[in-house]
Amino acid sequence: MRAAVFHDAGDVRLEHVPDPTPAAGEVVVRVLRSGMCGTDLGEWTKGPRTFPVRTPHPVTGHHGPMIPGHELVGEVVETVPGSGWETGRLVASGAGVSCGTCDRCREGRTNLCRRYYTLGLNTHGGMAELVSVPMSTLRPVPDGLGLDAAGLAQPMAVGLHAARRAGVRPGDTVVLIGAGAIGTFVLAGLRDLVDCDVVVVDFAGRRLERAARTGATTTVAAGDDGDAAVAEAVGPGGADVVIEASGALGMVGRAQAMVRPGGRILQVGLPSGPQEIDLHALVMREVTLETTLAHVCGDDLSPAMEILARTGLATELLDSVRPLSDLAGQLDRMASGGLDGKVLFDPTMEPEIDTRSSDT
Ligand SMILES: [Zn+2]
Ligand SMILES: [Zn+2]
Repeated sequence: MRAAVFHDAGDVRLEHVPDPTPAAGEVVVRVLRSGMCGTDLGEWTKGPRTFPVRTPHPVTGHHGPMIPGHELVGEVVETVPGSGWETGRLVASGAGVSCGTCDRCREGRTNLCRRYYTLGLNTHGGMAELVSVPMSTLRPVPDGLGLDAAGLAQPMAVGLHAARRAGVRPGDTVVLIGAGAIGTFVLAGLRDLVDCDVVVVDFAGRRLERAARTGATTTVAAGDDGDAAVAEAVGPGGADVVIEASGALGMVGRAQAMVRPGGRILQVGLPSGPQEIDLHALVMREVTLETTLAHVCGDDLSPAMEILARTGLATELLDSVRPLSDLAGQLDRMASGGLDGKVLFDPTMEPEIDTRSSDT
């Protein structure tokens, strides 16, 4: 089969590789859409960090070049008797694989499983024509949900999980920092869960315009007087909840300045280095600092697809659908900051012919 294979930072190649062989509990899925996200970008620019390219992964044993892609939908093509999955069924994979028996799994926090691993991050994923997927991560794509929208199921599940973790109550005022793809998924999750005011902060431009169309009560352009504008939007007491979804350096400190006494900060974004927090100020105002990671497949993946089916979010967020041969180019585009939405890859599309001269 054809697959995009990650070898090292800046080195992703379109290759012919053997078809996957399903292990116990797995089915083979023909991939129809596979999304790229900031985690893939981290591997591309600074990696391999998560990809088990240099040292074997402790759970999967994977070692060496790896097929990325943890946001995938496709069609079941090879199954085992009694699996409950028929061939031809359209499915989305939550990508995160949990054991189901450890203490965290038993309390429903499968994203914190002791033996957790993720397709496309710790073993071969969806940037290929075929992928072998643990059935526990699969959920059916609802009738009527198009492939392009279904291709956003996993990041929407991440946004919904973050929205749940934010603990927003009806009538709360929320500040959401960051209106990129993740921030937009969190906004959609909030809109689905609870009736609240959401003040979205980002740089002026297309992202904020999209936030205004997808559920922001108010948008505030970051800048020299951005904090004053946020204070004006939330009122003198501060926000009940501040969700930091940009991951930009210094932002968690800014979030601290925006939250009310007794309020909550939810850190969604992953800053590129350690961040200073004024713990004294947090304690004196009894502010809760929460975090969120990935999603809980059983709770979030099907509801995420229902949100995508009910809203026009996919139309707002989808940048383009491209052949696998375009992966490196799109990672470069994301690295340069030139991407506001989601790029999906369709491995059934013919690769674009490389027109550069070749010695071979
Ligand atoms: Zn991701
Ligand atoms: Zn577990």
